[in-house]
Amino acid sequence: MNIPFSKVDCSGLERELVSEVLESGWLTTASKAQQFEKQFRKTVGASYACAVNSCTAGLHLGLEALGVGPGDQVLVPSMTFTSSAEVIRYLGADPIFLDVDYETRLLTPKIVEEALLNHSSIKALVVVHFGGQVAAMPDIEGKEGILSICKRYGVKIIEDAAHAFPSRIGDRYVGSYGDVTCFSFYANKTITTGEGGMLLTEDEEIFKRVKTMRLHGINRDIWDRFTDTNSSWEYDVIAPGYKYNMPDINAAIGIAQLARAHEFREGRQKCADYYDQALEGIECIDLPLCLREREGHSWHLYPIVLNEKSFMSRNCFIERLKERGVGNSVHYKPLHRMTYYRDYYNLKSQDFPNTERIWKGTVSLPIYFGLSDWELEFVAHAVREVLGVN
Ligand SMILES: *Cc1c(COP(=O)(O)O)cnc(C)c1O
Repeated sequence: MNIPFSKVDCSGLERELVSEVLESGWLTTASKAQQFEKQFRKTVGASYACAVNSCTAGLHLGLEALGVGPGDQVLVPSMTFTSSAEVIRYLGADPIFLDVDYETRLLTPKIVEEALLNHSSIKALVVVHFGGQVAAMPDIEGKEGILSICKRYGVKIIEDAAHAFPSRIGDRYVGSYGDVTCFSFYANKTITTGEGGMLLTEDEEIFKRVKTMRLHGINRDIWDRFTDTNSSWEYDVIAPGYKYNMPDINAAIGIAQLARAHEFREGRQKCADYYDQALEGIECIDLPLCLREREGHSWHLYPIVLNEKSFMSRNCFIERLKERGVGNSVHYKPLHRMTYYRDYYNLKSQDFPNTERIWKGTVSLPIYFGLSDWELEFVAHAVREVLGVN
């Protein structure tokens, strides 16, 4: 028996669309990338989209376009992947690491407001929609959300939505909330292009800057404005930009994956529904809390926590699950425990109590479209068996 932690499904139009690119003879960024951008932004209801070669690239471009630079401070949760914080360092700015809510692993309006009261010159905030659940961005039932709080303090928001496609509150999708939102299409994400990402924004100026910086800082528009020669070989460079564009081969895979995004999401929700019911009532584990309607959650991850009542360590639990052929993963070893951030910023574990509690016990179970009923049963049975509960 071997149930992998994650599995890609490329059985749709992937081959056909990639073939079209190969036959076209044009393998870099062109019409497929454009088509993917358009379809993606329409799906989430955003005005501008920029396809990039990773979510990390998108976060870097987004922060740059928001004006984050040397010496600036940017809030970011410690419970995330290193991308969310490394991009702040790329720009010479400093991350201020935050604890998260224990039950959801999310930043809350309260955590954000406290941080803004304690640090007077924050430039921006990175929000991570952990596991695919949307943080409290809008005002909900009279309670001020993260968007309003940041607006009051003049703080820009960039969303690391690597887990959060398709995720929404009501009918408003992630991708239409903050100043900039970045998605990941890495191989194990909810839809994939192999490697890739998408940056969305409502702001035309941000979009223009991102588009320019995505490709070497080359700006054809500016040149066009001052010349009427229409010479296509001529271009201008307005900044030392990056090489972050998405090739058409990847975009072709993305278009095929996008067409099945809702089907994939439903498949993952089915897994979550099953685990919720099959693992309910086990004293020594805490199941992930779903705050709102289950259909608004992308269910990228199903992370459980072995709590203080567990007689078994997380690492031992992982080994026992592996012996039974159940793939799993840990999200995440927090950034305040990573050598670079810990030493450079002199971070102390006791300043992150919830993150520490999560880290000590967290294990993510397999969750993906195509995981069959009997495989789900097998996973749940293995969890119960390893923990010695019936
Ligand atoms: C995967 C991931 C990223 C990085 O995505 P890439 O496309 O690989 O750059 C960033 N943040 C989080 C939370 C992720 O899970």
